[in-house]
Amino acid sequence: MTKRILVIGGGIAGPVTALALRQAGFDPVVHEAYDESADGVGAFLTLASNGLSALETLGLAEPVAAAGFVTPRMRLSLGARELGWFPMSSTDPRMPSTVTITRAALYRVLRDEVRRQDIPVEYGKRMTGAESDARGVTARFADGTTATGDLLIGADGLRSTVRTVIDPAAPAPRYVPLLNTGGYARGVRVPGEPGTAYMGFGRRAFFAYLPHPDGSVWWFANVPSRTEPTRADLAAITDWRGRLREVYAGDDLPAQALIDATADIVAPYPTYDFPTVPTWHRDRMVIVGDAAHATSPAAGQGASMAVEDAVTLARCLRSDRPTAFAEYERLRRPRVEKVVRMGKRNGDVKAPGVFGRLLLPLAIRMLPTRDMSWLLDHRV
Ligand SMILES: Cc1cc2nc3c(=O)[nH]c(=O)nc-3n(C[C@H](O)[C@H](O)[C@H](O)COP(=O)(O)OP(=O)(O)OC[C@H]3O[C@@H](n4cnc5c(N)ncnc54)[C@H](O)[C@@H]3O)c2cc1C
Repeated sequence: MTKRILVIGGGIAGPVTALALRQAGFDPVVHEAYDESADGVGAFLTLASNGLSALETLGLAEPVAAAGFVTPRMRLSLGARELGWFPMSSTDPRMPSTVTITRAALYRVLRDEVRRQDIPVEYGKRMTGAESDARGVTARFADGTTATGDLLIGADGLRSTVRTVIDPAAPAPRYVPLLNTGGYARGVRVPGEPGTAYMGFGRRAFFAYLPHPDGSVWWFANVPSRTEPTRADLAAITDWRGRLREVYAGDDLPAQALIDATADIVAPYPTYDFPTVPTWHRDRMVIVGDAAHATSPAAGQGASMAVEDAVTLARCLRSDRPTAFAEYERLRRPRVEKVVRMGKRNGDVKAPGVFGRLLLPLAIRMLPTRDMSWLLDHRV
């Protein structure tokens, strides 16, 4: 009989896991906490060559690439002073080029394909607990309902419930002292051209922008915030645009022009990662994506790692061996933890302080991002 697999979370890892499971001959059902309409998340992300390569195995690289735009390189600067150029894409011509895409567009492509393949998705199902025994696994939801399956895969992100069901002593995410924000500027001209991410250190904060082929400019900002803000702290920020204008005042970057040309600026949100999550699986349950290994956005790899996990896990399960989860962890843990370490180092450089700024040109030369083939050329 076909194995029924409960997938908890309908973000990025969840739908991709469901599609990879279906391809491997399983019967997945996705359970997502929010309503279907709740995907208007404003931010964008880069999906790197390695992540797109994993999506190729599911026939999804093309529609995802078509919904974004290629961004094969980045230019780093200290104010207007150029520090160097770095690849964001694999240089292997057989690999797809890195693309930048809104999170909403990526969700849409993944969900359309899930729907096309008639994979059931249950919305409004927030998992609160799960039990497994010799016969199967049962998930409990906040609305009082339950679902049963042969296996349960937690793709429920940074604050994963499945992670704590597997290991009640699982660590909490680590705060990375940066606030994220960004937006889409229109009707403004800035130096540069599509295909390059222009990333610059201002005196107080890091700023990046990507000219889109349609003439708009996508940007994000990382504002240092030494202590972890509470929800109330974030809600108390009323004039975020004004705060950002102050942060970049006097910098030789086009930050202020882009902030002014943006109708809706993404509300600030804090950054987290996990140095390590000790336990990825127990009995019939396992975690993938951010639930297992969130990385700082400075790595530009969280979504790509989630996709690689999903495809790898489905392949391991296809072998139908009791060691499938252990095999998945053996294949994935060293790589994702290396990416988390890289993201932490990249993030630390974004909040350098006064002395750090003096040493930046040297620090940039020593960044482990010049040769990225171990990361970008990877095929699952
Ligand atoms: C500012 C920022 C910038 C980023 N930039 C990049 C980038 O450039 N490139 C990149 O690759 N990555 C980037 N990332 C990381 C990337 O967004 C994540 O790694 C990726 O979204 C992880 O996918 P996921 O499916 O594991 O988690 P998520 O996308 O968070 O999805 C988890 C899903 O599970 C659902 N859920 C949660 N709890 C429950 C529950 N109890 N029951 C049911 N459902 C539940 C949630 O509603 C959500 O839909 C960035 C992240 C941030 C914060």
